[in-house]
Amino acid sequence: MKVDLHSHTYPASQCSNMSVENLIVRAKEIGIDAMCLTEHNKPWNRDDILRLSENFDFRVLRGMEVTTKDGDILVFGLHEEMRDILTASELRERVADVGGFTIAAHPFRGFLMVGYLNLSLTPERAAGRAVFRSVDAIEAYNCKVTQHETDLALDVGARLDLPCVAGSDAHTLADVGKYVTYFEREISTEEELIAELKAGRFRIDA
Ligand SMILES: [Zn+2]
Ligand SMILES: [Zn+2]
Repeated sequence: MKVDLHSHTYPASQCSNMSVENLIVRAKEIGIDAMCLTEHNKPWNRDDILRLSENFDFRVLRGMEVTTKDGDILVFGLHEEMRDILTASELRERVADVGGFTIAAHPFRGFLMVGYLNLSLTPERAAGRAVFRSVDAIEAYNCKVTQHETDLALDVGARLDLPCVAGSDAHTLADVGKYVTYFEREISTEEELIAELKAGRFRIDA
């Protein structure tokens, strides 16, 4: 099943320009099987997610995109508003306490504007970034990264034996579902999503 692991809606994420209702309608139209709402630093509440899923007869799952000192991290399973800016390792501890899952979001976005060779950011050095010691996976595909940045993320994932995922990071309707992760099994709940992520039963190519 096709899951878009990364999206933002307005007003929960002020940087987005689409309502959650419009996002769901769009996702259904283009054949996405489940959408994860990953607003910045604040989770949706469970009742709202259940109501949306029921009203639209569509799988809506909640996650969160947390700002850390080591970059943005997608988290699943943690349901508290993040008021302080933690390090990736501090965040991982909190997520581990609740049995959740963490993904380094767009880890090289903007890093390679002039090409990583020019910036001497070799894959070896890139793989040494702190964030990669504190996440369970890497988001390699994202609407806002270049092919070079995606290639570097894939390379780093292979070197560190970290699985790579794809998420649209949609802030507008046109970007919904642009990148999806393909899961082997049916997922209906956030708990099932976490279990399938942990089991590695997904891939990023169709
Ligand atoms: Zn981000
Ligand atoms: Zn995002």
